[in-house]
Order: sequence, then structure tokens, then C-alpha cells
Amino acid sequence: MKEIVKDVMTCRRCRLHKYRKNPVPGEGGFKRKIMIIGEAPGRREDELGRPFVGKAGELLDQLLKGIGLSREDVYITNVVKCRPPNNRDPKDDEIEACRPFLERQLAVLKPKLILCLGRFSARVMAEMLGGNFHGMTRDHGKAVATKNGPILFFTYHPAAALYRKQLLEDLQRDFEKLKQEIERLE
Ligand code: SF4
Repeated sequence: MKEIVKDVMTCRRCRLHKYRKNPVPGEGGFKRKIMIIGEAPGRREDELGRPFVGKAGELLDQLLKGIGLSREDVYITNVVKCRPPNNRDPKDDEIEACRPFLERQLAVLKPKLILCLGRFSARVMAEMLGGNFHGMTRDHGKAVATKNGPILFFTYHPAAALYRKQLLEDLQRDFEKLKQEIERLE
């Protein structure tokens, strides 16, 4: 993992390197074999070089705590490791350029379960691992088996739920289902 982090820190494989203050490779513990994958770093993450440290990160911490998990229990990263300008969506060629880092992280961590936060993460991980994802409205709260190993669990990105009560309630319910899925796996 140290090698991967070192390579991310010096990467210039896509245009996003021009806009970043700090790349955000990812961090967390490996013991529970749970990975959380978001979309891309935001402003605060870019400033600190750490994943999910802004308001969406605070919400994620609360949701994790609610099901008995802490940051040390999960490894957290994003589909792209550098912040897109003005928090725009990552483009397909940027996702493709960054994908080898995610593949290497998966190879090292060998997760049993991957929590995909938001549609970008869900789509990329379903494609990468051979699982089905039809859209977040239909598939949030679902655990899906993949051809290549880990279970994928889909839910909304916490940033989307910050100011939308309905999404927040869905997210909370999804985390309860996530807890059951983790208990089943463990
Ligand atoms: Fe490299 Fe990924 Fe950053 Fe693009 S987003 S510069 S591929 S680390």
C-alpha cells in the first residue's frame, strides 16, 4: 500500500493533477476487509490530502458509528484520487486513468465487501468486478455478488444527503441493511 500511495502522490496521468493541492490516495484499516469507495475528493479533502473529511465525511462517520464501525475498521478511498475543478463530476477518461490505482488497492486489501457511495463508484465497481448496477434509485440498499469476489453494497453519496431529508432517511436505512450484510459475511 505504501508503494501505491507513493505512486498516487506523484501521478500526472490525467488532467486533474493540474488542479489538485494534494492527491487523496485513501486511508484506514484493513482488518475487517471492508472498503468504502466514493467519487472524488472535495475541497476539504484536497486541502488535507485525506478522504471524507468535510461535511460529507462527518455524516459518513455518524453513519458508520451507528452500525458499530469506526474509521479504523474500514479502508476509504475514491474512484479518482484528485479533486475535479469546482467539484464537477469526474470524466470517463479521468476515471479510466485512475483505475489502475483502485485495482492495485483491491489486490492488496482483498476486501470481502465494498460499500459504493454514489452512482459513479457503483458503476465503476460493478463494471470492474462483474456485478449488476442499474441505477441508485433502483439499487440502493442492495448487496450484489460479483464474478470476481467481493460483495458490492450500493448507497447514496453522503454529500447528496446533506440537504435532502428523504435521501438521508434512505441512507440511514441502507446502513442498517449494510450492518446485516456485514454480520452475515463475518
Ligand atoms: Fe493520477 Fe488519478 Fe490524480 Fe489523475 S486523478 S492525476 S490518474 S492520481
